[in-house]
Amino acid sequence: MKHALLELAERRTVIFDGAMGTMLMAAGLPAGENPVIWNLEKGDLVGDIHRQYYEAGSDAVHTNTFLGNPLKLHQSGLSEKTAFLNEQAAKIARKVCPEDKFVAGDIGPTGLFMKPLGELSPEEAEESYSRQAEALIKGGVDFISIETMFSLEEALSAVRGAKKLGNILVIAAMTYNRTKKGFFTMMGEGIAQCVSALEEAGADVIGSNCTLGSADMIDLTKEIRTATQKPVLIQPNAGKPVTRKGITSYEQPPAEFAEHGRAIREAGAQMIGGCCGTNADFIRELVKALHPSSL
Ligand SMILES: [Zn+2]
Repeated sequence: MKHALLELAERRTVIFDGAMGTMLMAAGLPAGENPVIWNLEKGDLVGDIHRQYYEAGSDAVHTNTFLGNPLKLHQSGLSEKTAFLNEQAAKIARKVCPEDKFVAGDIGPTGLFMKPLGELSPEEAEESYSRQAEALIKGGVDFISIETMFSLEEALSAVRGAKKLGNILVIAAMTYNRTKKGFFTMMGEGIAQCVSALEEAGADVIGSNCTLGSADMIDLTKEIRTATQKPVLIQPNAGKPVTRKGITSYEQPPAEFAEHGRAIREAGAQMIGGCCGTNADFIRELVKALHPSSL
């Protein structure tokens, strides 16, 4: 049976959520604290951010577990709480999720380098991601969404770690830089290389998020589209970050983001959301631009 998310994507563009991290920081999350802890300490506040996105028109929202893999939690002395924190995060989102909408179990990078650059082995990464995905699924997510991966090898470990748990839909989104020679991950991997490897590892949806603003993501989407037959998820940042007096902010007007969202759909994306700097206003504008008849 086809997953309900893919069925929806065949009927119309699926709207994802916007940023979580920047919303939590705006709500007072101290710099340097792992936001995953707020699933325990401020569950209502996390749930309220999810609710804002559903109300703005998101079909799917991500759990607050971007930094929730045990290797990342280890840095805050919390790796033993991996199962509990991720399960709790899934339950928070599930609780506010309308019946016909989706909860995406969010998985982000470990922040560690894989061998030989760093210490992390593919087996250790896979095991770590598998533990996180298992807890997210236990907590009730509808699928797994792997995001902001800057290393293909790490992304593959995450896809395999989730896929080995059984029949779960997996989205795999890499983050690319734009260079004169094209789009590449931080590790120097190109789009075609990433897409074919992710598909082979079992990814059901191919994506990209973060690093690039909505304008650059239009061209990126075209390239991903030519590299895959799978549905494509694109989640741009709110334009390019602006730094003034050491403070970085995103200043793109939501309407411009939404206009680019339309071009991203035309370029071949079936699923669109936002990354850094986006909030519920961006999602509202995106819904207006992509689904004017639903209003
Ligand atoms: Zn981002």
